[in-house]
Amino acid sequence: MNTVTENIVEISNLAFSYPTREIFKNVNVAIPRGQVTGIMGGSGSGKSTLLRLIGGQLQPARGTCKVMGQDVHKLGHDELYELRRKIGMQFQQNGLFTDMSVFDNLAFPMREKTDLPESVIEDLVLLKLNAVGLRGAAQLMPSELSGGMTRRVGLARAIALDPALIMYDEPFAGLDPISCNVVGNLIRKLNDALGVTSIVVSYDATEALKIVDYVYFIADGVIAAEGATADVKVSDDPFVHQFIRGRPDGPVPFHYPADNYAADLNVGGVASRVA
Ligand code: ADP
Ligand code: MG
Repeated sequence: MNTVTENIVEISNLAFSYPTREIFKNVNVAIPRGQVTGIMGGSGSGKSTLLRLIGGQLQPARGTCKVMGQDVHKLGHDELYELRRKIGMQFQQNGLFTDMSVFDNLAFPMREKTDLPESVIEDLVLLKLNAVGLRGAAQLMPSELSGGMTRRVGLARAIALDPALIMYDEPFAGLDPISCNVVGNLIRKLNDALGVTSIVVSYDATEALKIVDYVYFIADGVIAAEGATADVKVSDDPFVHQFIRGRPDGPVPFHYPADNYAADLNVGGVASRVA
């Protein structure tokens, strides 16, 4: 177990469906300790769902998901709670409490989940804020922050309880190019300086490929491609090529599967106007 190449997350033959929709047919993913791993795929491909399966919020139909050696979906309530304490999460919708200062947003998980005295919590909050360059913003309210700063507070909160694994859901979404670089560099630096393991879920291949070591591409319920970042960048795999260059059509079709268009129309004449 404690080999150099130990995987902190191991997903094997995973299948999952929402009541109305199949999301994963068969997914295999290994996240090695100490690395930043990217999980990419188009909107709706199931990236956030995969993070919820890793965190034990959702149950798979088949297959297993091991996190730090434990089979997440076989854990009891208390064990799952303990495991989740070791996972830092940055949510797609930053999820800050709007009526609390930046300081209190960070102190919140520490006050809830530890017995640390307030003086220690204060020092820890400032330490985490300093790590993301926002110690000076401790007393601001979320509404006073720019998009990039909000994302950085989210990062600080993800590392609040010293997690072993940090999961970022769309950390670049909605940010200007400079903030994207700041946040990307921060994810990389925090990973290496804290000696943790990171998963970055993103549809933004350009930004993600700047900082990840290894990348998985999800499409149609399976891992469509995977590889070390350097190899992926020069890959001529048609799927990878389309995805990292943002081509609208290729192995991933522009059109969602549908019946014959003309047959679908109520008014025959419209087809020629739309086409
Ligand atoms: P991504 O993060 O890759 O954009 P998601 O994992 O959020 O994709 O969602 C995958 C698909 O599952 C989407 O089509 C989404 O609409 C659907 N979905 C997400 N959550 C639910 C849910 N609770 N019930 C039913 N369908 C859902
Ligand atoms: Mg998502």
